[in-house]
Amino acid sequence: MTLLTSSWTPLTGASHAIALDVLINGPLSRAELARRLDLSAGSLTRLARPLVDAGLLVEVGAHNGDPRAGDARIGRPERPLDVVPTSHHFIGIKLTGDTAYGVLTTLRAEAVAAESRPLTDSAPQAVCAVIAELVARLATRGPAVTAVGISIGGQAPDHATVVAAPFLHWADVPLAAMVEDLTGLPTVVENDVIALTEAEHWFGAGRGLDRFAVLTVGAGVGFGLVLRGHLITSPDAGLGLVGHIPLDPSGPLCFAGHRGCSTAMLTMPSIAAGASVALRRPVDYDDVLDLALAGDPAAGQIVADAGRALGRLIALAANLTMPERVVLSGEGVRLVEVARPQIDEALAANRDPQASPLDLDVRPGDFTQWARGAAVIAIQTYVLGSD
Ligand SMILES: [Zn+2]
Repeated sequence: MTLLTSSWTPLTGASHAIALDVLINGPLSRAELARRLDLSAGSLTRLARPLVDAGLLVEVGAHNGDPRAGDARIGRPERPLDVVPTSHHFIGIKLTGDTAYGVLTTLRAEAVAAESRPLTDSAPQAVCAVIAELVARLATRGPAVTAVGISIGGQAPDHATVVAAPFLHWADVPLAAMVEDLTGLPTVVENDVIALTEAEHWFGAGRGLDRFAVLTVGAGVGFGLVLRGHLITSPDAGLGLVGHIPLDPSGPLCFAGHRGCSTAMLTMPSIAAGASVALRRPVDYDDVLDLALAGDPAAGQIVADAGRALGRLIALAANLTMPERVVLSGEGVRLVEVARPQIDEALAANRDPQASPLDLDVRPGDFTQWARGAAVIAIQTYVLGSD
């Protein structure tokens, strides 16, 4: 099989649309693709040829979905186009304040292997050494790796330099270049919520939707938005702009002094800290959820308040952006399961009674999902383009 060469440039325009439609929905016949993308048969054939020549798309056996596929009566039997997901592999890395989580994926962002390493030293060179070790380890689990994506709770507006990453106390770290030097692999850096939103957009709960929102709860609170099939972003996206929205006037204070903001009400450290004070013993986030389920009144109150705050935040997001679906994710997403009655109560209180019921999709929020988001950014940046 022909593999993409080092001279390959990411796709744009109609070529991007063709490759992306086949990647997400393939196999598709040329006739079906032309119809879906509103292209003439001639344009489609002309645009698809270099993608086939480069090995990104392949002709596969006729499939049954399209009655014209393989029909000899209209001339040469037509073979649908597809991708070979295993033709390229990518590594995604999600950095938190204390761990590097890595995943090896195919071109369709299917996870093949996952590994993690603790970060005992947050100095950039020490973290890059851990990333390089993780990349080397994951690279042994599959064929050659095309590119690496790294996602981080912070700002990386040029996809190369981490301008700010509070969890690691970083400012202006040229992370992509540092990792490329150590691994020899093309590397891209992106904000973690943007990366997770792109993974849902192309390969998850947002697939095929015109408008959807992603809300994450975990170490922080994140929000991602796709409108008209495009991720909405700005250089400020990595600042965590939804982190301090007021949600409960009688809630606790966040580190910045806001009463009942989204950080104070919804982040795992805040919930664990509040419960540890109320219970007069140290408990972690999952302990609090378990205690609430077991009927502990103090933990139950904190979890119920968090549920109402999350319902209010979901309602605000939906009222302002009018999504077809709200995807809930993040490593603290178990809150949704435990506090669903309070979430629904707050949604009802904060939405117009005539508003359509919200389509909430709760996704696994584990760190493999975050790391997979980083791999999707590598797929976009080095193979498919992103618009
Ligand atoms: Zn705050």
